[in-house]
Amino acid sequence: MQSLKIDNGIIKAKKALMGPSLHPIKNIHLEITDGVLTQAKAHPTATTREVLNAKHCTLLPGLVDCHVHLALDGINFKDCMDKWHSPGLMASHIKKQLNAGLEQGLTYFRDGGDRGGQALTFKNSSPTNLPIKASGTALRIQKMYGTFLGPGLKKEQIKEAIAFLAGKNADPIKVLVSGIVSFKEYGRVGPQQFDLPTLQQIVNNAKKVGLKVMAHANSDEAVKICIQAGVHSVEHGYFISHDTLKMMAEKGIYWVPTIVPVANQLKKPNRDRFTKDELHVIEKTYKRQQEMLCWACEWGVTVGVGTDAGASGVLHGTGFHEELQLYREAGLSCETIVKAATINGAKILGLNSGLEQGKPLRFTAVAGDPLEDLNILKKPEYIYLHSPD
Ligand SMILES: [Zn+2]
Repeated sequence: MQSLKIDNGIIKAKKALMGPSLHPIKNIHLEITDGVLTQAKAHPTATTREVLNAKHCTLLPGLVDCHVHLALDGINFKDCMDKWHSPGLMASHIKKQLNAGLEQGLTYFRDGGDRGGQALTFKNSSPTNLPIKASGTALRIQKMYGTFLGPGLKKEQIKEAIAFLAGKNADPIKVLVSGIVSFKEYGRVGPQQFDLPTLQQIVNNAKKVGLKVMAHANSDEAVKICIQAGVHSVEHGYFISHDTLKMMAEKGIYWVPTIVPVANQLKKPNRDRFTKDELHVIEKTYKRQQEMLCWACEWGVTVGVGTDAGASGVLHGTGFHEELQLYREAGLSCETIVKAATINGAKILGLNSGLEQGKPLRFTAVAGDPLEDLNILKKPEYIYLHSPD
């Protein structure tokens, strides 16, 4: 995989799936001016300004992971936490996770937070504009789920916490509305942390400082109040009901279902930690999520691909392709999956699709057509992210 650094010139390719709708154009010439796609033409005339001939490649809007934790690696939670005290070690750790993602063809990431706000600090201290949206630390209530994602707050501290995060250039605001799903008892979820009025207050306060809310929520009740409060995106959303999903579609709230952090518990070495009954609960839990994913697409919910990379058993980069594979196993078409992985993700992050005339260019190039064979996405040839929005 090569990360292209081209400010000006013409890129030729066999095909491009143009944003915002993946409209295919064969034998395309893309003209780039200062990192912006100034012209996209099929069968153009000869040029002397060609800088790359990707004649075997399909270009698609850049792959986007809507939910990662760059301060964690998915392998050893304790090792990562130990590094949190050393800015130098942490910076090289995060760089490594970020590069692992880019290497797999990803072009933008949305970080769901960590207790020290490490990913946000890394982004803020980088001399270049990194393709990361980082929430810093998550809003959560003292003594409830998520000690590694943010310091616990009292209700009266929430407003102040949002102002603090906004001052640190956090974007979006991450909130933990519920706990996590139980692997011991099917359908059980850790307790809810916020009621509807408090969540509404969070959404309003975030809006006042120009920020959107990314809400961790499992259980139908928790997801329902997220939708009523008008959050930007629901993360996880395990055990959502059909009615709530339809409400999500109606209100245009985005969904990032994160199937791989549950499904990968069935893989070694993680599976050795669980009893036979627990493995059964895990399987039933992620399969239900796959079923709801299909309904979501059927009913018009905008779904973005998020991996929760950094969570136990989910590696940055490769976890993304595992998540796509789980979408495929659920029965979705390649086109629906590619849309979720590219243009929907961009929408959720507030970016342009990446392959639109007049907009900053951002693409992933593969040697083949991902609409025919999704596996080709696992072998990216090039990424272009020279001018992150
Ligand atoms: Zn997460």
